[in-house]
Amino acid sequence: MKEVFIIGGGPGGIKLAQELRVIGFNGKIHLLEDRFLGGECTNVGCIPSKTIYNFSKMSYKFRKMFKKSLSFDIEIIVSTLRKTVGTIRKGIEYNLKKAEVDVVNSKGILYKDKLSIDGKLHGFDAVVVATGSIPVRLGYNHERILTNRELWGDMFDTFVNDLKKGIKVLIVGAGYIGLETVSIFSNLFDNSHFVIIEKERSIIPTADDDIISEVHKSLLKNNSNVNILTNSVINKIEPLADNLVVEYVSNGNTIKDEFSFVVFSLGRKPNIPMDGVDKIEVDEFLRIKGLNNVWAIGDVIGGKLLAHKAEYQAKIVANNLVDTLQGGISKHRYTKTNEIQIPSIMFSIPEVGWYGFTERELKDIGLDYTSKKVNMASNARAIVDNSREGFIKVLYNNRGEILGVHVIAENVSELINIPMVYNSETIVYPHPTTAEIFNELL
Ligand SMILES: Cc1cc2nc3c(=O)[nH]c(=O)nc-3n(C[C@H](O)[C@H](O)[C@H](O)COP(=O)(O)OP(=O)(O)OC[C@H]3O[C@@H](n4cnc5c(N)ncnc54)[C@H](O)[C@@H]3O)c2cc1C
Repeated sequence: MKEVFIIGGGPGGIKLAQELRVIGFNGKIHLLEDRFLGGECTNVGCIPSKTIYNFSKMSYKFRKMFKKSLSFDIEIIVSTLRKTVGTIRKGIEYNLKKAEVDVVNSKGILYKDKLSIDGKLHGFDAVVVATGSIPVRLGYNHERILTNRELWGDMFDTFVNDLKKGIKVLIVGAGYIGLETVSIFSNLFDNSHFVIIEKERSIIPTADDDIISEVHKSLLKNNSNVNILTNSVINKIEPLADNLVVEYVSNGNTIKDEFSFVVFSLGRKPNIPMDGVDKIEVDEFLRIKGLNNVWAIGDVIGGKLLAHKAEYQAKIVANNLVDTLQGGISKHRYTKTNEIQIPSIMFSIPEVGWYGFTERELKDIGLDYTSKKVNMASNARAIVDNSREGFIKVLYNNRGEILGVHVIAENVSELINIPMVYNSETIVYPHPTTAEIFNELL
């Protein structure tokens, strides 16, 4: 009987184990996980952050409609987060058991053609590396300097209880995770103050300029408790009593300021279970170059660091792996086109969603395009919902094919897929919905 080992029980590893069964793999599947099933996403990423995002959105809406702050019990927030994460983890355990996956609570280390588990070497028919990524923390080690792992993990209770009292927080890095973090907490705790610092010329530097300026504008307009510092870098962080003194350089000026917490959202690095390897290179079938029957998926191979990308790659590898082990040939490819079509969402208020090329990328590669844009303020549902901020922009080539879609609006996460089915002639959008704004574009 064939034996497959999956290293890492995050969204990629879990999906792969299940998918192997869906497509009829009848060998043994071992899933190694040295922390918690569900990985970064379920435990300290997507799930906890979106659970609290819901509270935050409610608080924002309440303030906007009733012109006063919502009062709430902090314990409800903490217990909802724990309960949600627990429920999802239980679901994962149940599904893996149903798929007859052998879950091993151990660390796996890969040597060329052997796998070490708890110090014991095993042979294998196939291995898939799905070990994810770890947050960058610049060597700082202090209980008030947080990455997503502490923020959404063990320090969450302390953090939100302090926020309720009114504190000052520095968020380092204004990429998608940093902006989500500032949006979530500044809308929920309006008596605390948040400074977000970014070394580049703007927040979300890879986005298009109109998206950047709309996000920047709405963050400052909706949250008087937020400051954004671009062209700014931190020099050092030193503890002082219960606080942290941060020295940073902003637009050429050196400034010292005190914060109760510093939250790092500086990017991530791959978590590679192979001694002395700091980058995994895969071919178009997601097979690790230079190794036999070893594939890799998800954050560990870079590109878009998203749970649904890891899961999509898991499906591709499941097929390639079964083809290979049953004597066929790998035929499911993962190309640059796959990657660019994967939608990204930033759960800020309002949300931001996009897929395909940005205008900047199209200009850089010299591709002709047309841009069409509609403001949300012209959409009946947006007016009904009192959420008129934002726009939808679609970039087309000269054959009328979509090259990129960029949206800033409430609930973008639910409507970003709509233009992907553009070629169908039978899409009727319900009224009043945010989705019907595509009537004006497609
Ligand atoms: C704050 C935050 C919010 C996010 N929100 C979203 C979101 O809303 N939507 C979205 O799509 N993405 C989101 N992401 C990104 C998402 O969490 C990751 O892209 C996703 O978790 C990657 O899945 P993965 O399976 O590649 O790796 P991971 O989820 O990192 O899982 C890897 C697993 O492997 C285990 N492991 C590592 N090394 C070993 C080893 N040697 N042996 C055994 N086990 C090992 C780890 O413990 C971990 O459980 C967010 C990330 C963060 C930080």
